[in-house]
Amino acid sequence: MAILGIPQNTIAVLKKYNFNFQKKFGQNFLIDTRVLERIIQASGVTKEDFVLEIGPGIGTMTQYLCEYAREVAAVEIDKNLIPILKETLSAYDNVEVIQGDILKIDINDFVQKKNQGNPIKVVANLPYYITTPIIMGLFESHVPLDSITIMVQKEVAERMQAGPGTKDYGALSLAVQYYAKTEIVANVPPNCFMPRPGVGSAVIKLTRYREAPVITSDERLMFALIRASFNQRRKTLVNGLNNAAGITCSKPQVLEALRKMELPANVRGEALTLEQFAKLSNLLL
Ligand code: SAM
Repeated sequence: MAILGIPQNTIAVLKKYNFNFQKKFGQNFLIDTRVLERIIQASGVTKEDFVLEIGPGIGTMTQYLCEYAREVAAVEIDKNLIPILKETLSAYDNVEVIQGDILKIDINDFVQKKNQGNPIKVVANLPYYITTPIIMGLFESHVPLDSITIMVQKEVAERMQAGPGTKDYGALSLAVQYYAKTEIVANVPPNCFMPRPGVGSAVIKLTRYREAPVITSDERLMFALIRASFNQRRKTLVNGLNNAAGITCSKPQVLEALRKMELPANVRGEALTLEQFAKLSNLLL
């Protein structure tokens, strides 16, 4: 089977199957071999690895993954792509294509069955409309993971990597940075895809921490504090936490905690580091 990363080959497959792109599924297929090689290289996938690919499309990256990994499982929602994948991946016996919605699959159970609960690597050119639920789903359900190497919208990659005091810093930055080390490995322009997306893209690698970088005695409270702080970005932290979902502490308790942390009473949530949110959650417990 010809390499699909070359535009003519992708066009030939799409024509042969009379394939119509589904906008609702975020279908933008990669047509640049250099970008594909960069993703594979950044992912660090070897013949030891079990790889989960989310949204294989016509199998462009799946072909590379099959060459480099021990085993590949690829979950694709679009039924019309399944016969195409059967053909484009016919040369490989180390791949399983699963038709389904990644958000509805119990990945923990899946990893248990397919890889005996050992850590997997996730590699994907994600459908952008569900980037955050996919990533948070993988982290929060504590799927055994080594790393996630993904193509996402450029702005989203920047938000994941942002630090305190910047405009991109928010609940997503803190959530991702609690679970993983982040590294943007490439910026990818729209002309590397078919059809071209209306936004720039970036490849980001999230390497799962074996131990959390901060200590919180109540993860749930820490994330409730983070969400409340950024839901009302313009308010001071004290006012933002007042009456917020999942938070029962009073204003004087929050003020006292801030005093102990040597932070001003009018500090905004966006100025706090992950470590400070963890400390705050411990003081408010
Ligand atoms: N991996 C291919 C590539 O790089 O050319 C395709 C990437 S395309 C950006 C995203 C893919 O995810 C599409 O094939 C789309 O049908 C699939 N997809 C969208 N929503 C999905 C979902 N909920 N579960 C699984 N796959 C999904």
